[in-house]
Amino acid sequence: MTTLHTADLVVPVGSPPVPDGAVVVDGDTIVAVGRFEDLISAHPAAEVTRWQGTIVPGLVNAHTHLQYTSFATVGASRHASYVHWSEAFVQEYDLRRGEDWGTTARAGIDQGLRAGVTAYGDVVTDLAAMTALSDSGVAGVAYYEIIGVPLEKWQDEVRDRVTAVLTSTPTSAEFRVGLSPHTPYTVDEPVLIDAADLARSLGVRLHVHLAEVDSEDDYYRTGTGPLVERITMRVGRPWSVVARGGSGMGAAEYARHCGLVGPDSHMAHGVYLDERGREILDEAGTYVALCPRSNLTVGGEPPPITDYLRENRRIAVGTDSLGSSQSLDLLEDVALLAELASDGGYDQPDLEERLLHAATLGGAAALGLEDVVGSLEPGKRADLAIFAVGSVSELVTAGSGRCVGAVTGGVARWGG
Ligand SMILES: [Zn+2]
Repeated sequence: MTTLHTADLVVPVGSPPVPDGAVVVDGDTIVAVGRFEDLISAHPAAEVTRWQGTIVPGLVNAHTHLQYTSFATVGASRHASYVHWSEAFVQEYDLRRGEDWGTTARAGIDQGLRAGVTAYGDVVTDLAAMTALSDSGVAGVAYYEIIGVPLEKWQDEVRDRVTAVLTSTPTSAEFRVGLSPHTPYTVDEPVLIDAADLARSLGVRLHVHLAEVDSEDDYYRTGTGPLVERITMRVGRPWSVVARGGSGMGAAEYARHCGLVGPDSHMAHGVYLDERGREILDEAGTYVALCPRSNLTVGGEPPPITDYLRENRRIAVGTDSLGSSQSLDLLEDVALLAELASDGGYDQPDLEERLLHAATLGGAAALGLEDVVGSLEPGKRADLAIFAVGSVSELVTAGSGRCVGAVTGGVARWGG
């Protein structure tokens, strides 16, 4: 069946906005994008859906943990420091052992659809949430997480389990699996190196939290700082990089040393990186999913968005989970990035356009799904989000809470 979605404005991303625009969908695939009057005459039999507002590509939340959608009490307010937040998070997690994580993750996807999010980079800690994206008919990559794994345990048991999960989970063009070593400080170095090799041998993508905490650099460089005590206490002994007095490398360089950086990987956060650190990631083709609300919630600083923009780096946007954020509404983070960039002195007229790109095509590229989602163009999956706004600028600065409908794979999920 052919459907024609039309609105006062269609913003395809990657090509100029089209006033009185339309998107023609056949089955689950976009077949044409252009002016309404041109497309209706080319497709006279199409069923027409007229939306009030602006049609954009479904938004891509490039970093979250949907299974923590029930952790809202932890993410509701700011914590004094990352260690304070981390203690509150672990407490909540302990209380919720045995929760039906798949159901919780799907509830998060429903919240996201209401905010126009149709694709995810989702970190999965508990296997029950591994197929939440495909079960809910949204696109993305489910990254199976490894955290706190010593080398012996990795070799004895975890490596085989991870391999089994990554090779047996059903995938499709729009739903893939990946591997997420949590951070380079919560996983031992030989495990990081082997996990990166394993992901590449299986042809799956990598995703890592990096430079979220201000003391990470000390941890990698000299094996010192507050994270050492925190990790050593939880694991029972220092990881190898700490035991040998540090690597002499900053966060991005150390991640690259461990094989975690490349065009098949993306990082979450990237707050505490200097220009060289940002360059190391960008040169390698690695996107950074910026999650500013989460950074503030865990007692940190927001990412240096002005620098990322001025240096023309590869960026995406994420909400992180409700364990460290107040909603799964990606445009809240986009609006905060716009405000931070303006406050930081970014005065170029492309600000809103670039942030919308980050929240759509940038996110898709971060997930390796840029040929499938992230923009409105023929051949791509018909994932649309519709907002009651009249311009890209209004969408980026004030689009939160104004989603009026979402379409995934050609199916209207709500609105219309
Ligand atoms: Zn996270």
